[in-house]
Amino acid sequence: MSVAFHHKLLHASVIRERVHVPRGRVYCLAATTTKPRPDLAELAVEPRLPTAPGPLISPDRPVLNDPSLKSTWGHRAWLACGCTTVLVALAKSMVASSESHVWAEPVLAGAVGYVLADLGSGVYHWGIDNYGDASTPVFGAQIEAFQGHHKWPWTITRRQAANNLHALARAVAFVVGPIDLICNDPTMLGFVALCSGCIMFSQQFHSWAHSTKSKLPPPVVALQDLGLLVSRSQHAAHHRAPYNNNYCIVSGVWNEFLDYWKVFEALEMVLFFKFGLRPRSWSEPSSEWTEDAEEDLYQVEA
Ligand SMILES: [Zn+2]
Ligand SMILES: [Zn+2]
Repeated sequence: MSVAFHHKLLHASVIRERVHVPRGRVYCLAATTTKPRPDLAELAVEPRLPTAPGPLISPDRPVLNDPSLKSTWGHRAWLACGCTTVLVALAKSMVASSESHVWAEPVLAGAVGYVLADLGSGVYHWGIDNYGDASTPVFGAQIEAFQGHHKWPWTITRRQAANNLHALARAVAFVVGPIDLICNDPTMLGFVALCSGCIMFSQQFHSWAHSTKSKLPPPVVALQDLGLLVSRSQHAAHHRAPYNNNYCIVSGVWNEFLDYWKVFEALEMVLFFKFGLRPRSWSEPSSEWTEDAEEDLYQVEA
């Protein structure tokens, strides 16, 4: 048990009515998971949080008006920069297409960009769900935000704006800005505009997947129902055991393929045997992964 975890439990004991002292337990592996277990000696015994008989409120549970969940002017400025570079790429592509009277290739390239953005969002989501922590360079804040997202899914609607959306917008601004300056090919610009735009707003699409139907604008619900944006029901599976599937959050079109062929599980095995990196999804569900439900804010409607 880590010192931080121990401290957290001691702190919780002061404010909770009932606290169970955690202790290591031995579990039957065949009964607790369907995941491949490459190293049984390492994985056989795991500390497990106590099971509370009644609902417990985490002492570090975020509140909805937490300032850390809100956007700053800096975040908005980066979002504006990212949007500007995407719109410039799109406008240049359309102008060049109309001048050359070639529309099919740029439109097709845009469609390919949209499809690949879904794959990119899945790789990004899988990476920060499973590896690194808050101290990881560059992605530390995003990793922390996504970990909180699993325990408190409703925070995605706030924290995505304060962390992942602006981080992706900044990356898009740095990558797409130079392309806007040097590229005049309508096909390439069409691909870049759609791919970067969908990756940048993948966190917004993710947020919508956590909203109730009644709280979403009708066009968004229609796009979700058409499968053009990741659906609420499909993404809900990501937040249920075994917590290792449905990572793609633009359209979700790649999820079935990636999960059927266990692509991410294969990558996890490679990273484990090559570098000793153990993904978080191999652990038994703990307080970090188990959803602390907020019924009125996180509901999935069929
Ligand atoms: Zn996740
Ligand atoms: Zn989610």
